[in-house]
Amino acid sequence: MPQEQSFAERLVGWQRAAGRHDLPWQRTRDPYRVWLSEIMLQQTQVATVIPYYARFLEAFPDVAALAAAPAEQVLALWAGLGYYARARNLHRCAQQVVAVHGGFFPKTAAGLAELPGIGRSTAAAVAAFCYAERTAILDGNVKRVLCRVFGIDGFPGSTAVDRKLWALAETLLPEAADDMPAYTQGLMDLGATLCTRGLPHCPACPFADVCVARRDGRQRELPAPKPRAAVPERESTFVLIVADNRLLLERRPPAGLWGGLLVPPEGEPEAVLAARGLLAVDRRELPFLKHAFTHFRLTLKPVLCRVASQGKAGLAEPGGEWIELERAAEAGVPTPIRKLISLVANPAD
Ligand code: SF4
Repeated sequence: MPQEQSFAERLVGWQRAAGRHDLPWQRTRDPYRVWLSEIMLQQTQVATVIPYYARFLEAFPDVAALAAAPAEQVLALWAGLGYYARARNLHRCAQQVVAVHGGFFPKTAAGLAELPGIGRSTAAAVAAFCYAERTAILDGNVKRVLCRVFGIDGFPGSTAVDRKLWALAETLLPEAADDMPAYTQGLMDLGATLCTRGLPHCPACPFADVCVARRDGRQRELPAPKPRAAVPERESTFVLIVADNRLLLERRPPAGLWGGLLVPPEGEPEAVLAARGLLAVDRRELPFLKHAFTHFRLTLKPVLCRVASQGKAGLAEPGGEWIELERAAEAGVPTPIRKLISLVANPAD
């Protein structure tokens, strides 16, 4: 692990020598411009933001102009950037800066964070760039860099890891406030240009010799992805009752899984047949079928039961229909049931 002080020194040195210096929102300490760029850059690539940023500044050269604009004009200029809550908050924020702060952005990260749409990291970025405040940023790119350099395991979105990363980020700040703009820009540049989400460009990195992820070859593992919630598994037996080359299907109640669709009776074959006054003359278990729903996985266990001819009658309950096997798959059945039917209708498939 690098010495804490050397982290900031290395980063500032690298940013000044190899970082980005020509982005349209650099070389200004105007909090309106910096804030606008920071909001636009959330979840959005620099190349996408540049033309939007230029159009916004042309239409709204200062915070008062933005505050006074109709919401429709703001949203129209934002169209295509996505995440429209950002545009609405942007507009509200400008109005609040004018109405509450006399048209001047607060001069501290804490004050900025009180405004609509400005989170802790965005507030810190604006305060670092415009006022050289010693305050830490921690967006997705910075989390990735810190997790890799310091070998921090666990999903960064979890409360525990998030807290740990904020605490670490605070300890890494440069001693000299004057270094804050280059330091903050350096974190952003490193995450955007070298320590990228895919395969990072480690040989050019200022932390190449001390980075834990590089040392251990864990660049692909860090930061840890969001843990997947375990998907519940269910299983159910479906009784494919066939008589005279026709299959018994029953309509599901309107609410619930497969509501309103036709499905073979579900349950233990003996009980299913008995409840309907049917007697199997032949019974065969068919291969299981797995189907993934959004919230669970279902294993369908089909059992084919041939019963004696039923004519048109023979059903003990309403809602049942005997449907020609060839037509059954097209009769408004859910996809996995269609697959089960094809096992019976086309046994050679
Ligand atoms: S050495 Fe590689 S993985 Fe480590 S911080 Fe640098 S670019 Fe990222």
